[in-house]
Amino acid sequence: MIPSKFEYHAPQTLPKALRLLAEHKEDAKLLAGGQSLVPAMKLRLATPVVLIDLNRVGALRYVTQKDDHFAVGAMATHYMLESARTVLRKCPLLAQVASHIGDVQVRNRGTIGGSLVHADPAADWPTAILALDAELKLSSARGERTVKASEFFRGLFTTAIEPDEILTEIKVSAFAPRTGSTYVKVEQPASGFALCGVAAMVTVNEQGICQDARVAITGVTDKQIRARGVETALKGQKLDSNVITNASTKASEGITSPLDDIHASGDYRLHLARTYTKRALTEAVSRAK
Ligand SMILES: Cc1cc2nc3c(=O)[nH]c(=O)nc-3n(C[C@H](O)[C@H](O)[C@H](O)COP(=O)(O)OP(=O)(O)OC[C@H]3O[C@@H](n4cnc5c(N)ncnc54)[C@H](O)[C@@H]3O)c2cc1C
Repeated sequence: MIPSKFEYHAPQTLPKALRLLAEHKEDAKLLAGGQSLVPAMKLRLATPVVLIDLNRVGALRYVTQKDDHFAVGAMATHYMLESARTVLRKCPLLAQVASHIGDVQVRNRGTIGGSLVHADPAADWPTAILALDAELKLSSARGERTVKASEFFRGLFTTAIEPDEILTEIKVSAFAPRTGSTYVKVEQPASGFALCGVAAMVTVNEQGICQDARVAITGVTDKQIRARGVETALKGQKLDSNVITNASTKASEGITSPLDDIHASGDYRLHLARTYTKRALTEAVSRAK
């Protein structure tokens, strides 16, 4: 229960943090909220030689509304996103997903950046980021690059980030008119992590025809996925209950190795994916209208 020895750095600026990371690369770990990393260090599942604490890099902790999008600093806590008024008004899916994470203590310490990079297959944030088609800015001493959410999650606890990169910003578009969204989740009661969680976002025109639909699922397979079959079945359709029911049956399409553990069997998780997709879509469509 005691971490192995490590060297501790607490830079106050991003360039300093990037320089330290460039110097130590795989030997270093970044510390954000510590809600996943610290338990892993105590269990010696993570044994960094160097710990670079980002908590004094104030320039990474913000939620800002720009013209047509939100810029979210990677060190923004779950609570900041749950409670920001502009987020509630212009991009409520972010606030709703944040409110589902763990408990008050976890939401006060944990950060969106830490959660996305940790890439737990049952985490909540990746669904919002996928459903919102967000862009992730990755910075290093070499420069900056932007990765689309759909290309960021690679597998179990694995993302597209390189050892010398820091996730610095998440860019999310504000909702178009007549857009509705929601997040529904069956959680593992002890931790709050998802046995299955579904984020849905739909945009309809004045006649109620679906212009855009995005559905993302967590907890069911080794990484969060977009349910492309469901989305295709909705686009261009009038979103009545028959269309939603039929589309939702495609939520488990293509998942050949669902997660299967003491908390829920693979078959049950696939069932939840279909059932909760239907619930999420029904709610999102009623909000869009
Ligand atoms: C009791 C409990 C219940 C929880 N319940 C839930 C839940 O219901 N749903 C859920 O989704 N999560 C849950 N969590 C996890 C929580 O959301 C964490 O906040 C999150 O997984 C990690 O974020 P963090 O800021 O604590 O990151 P840390 O633990 O500090 O870091 C996690 C990893 O990300 C890396 N990292 C951090 N920031 C960056 C960055 N900016 N750039 C590059 N790498 C970075 C670190 O090096 C580390 O490898 C729970 C945690 C606890 C302890």
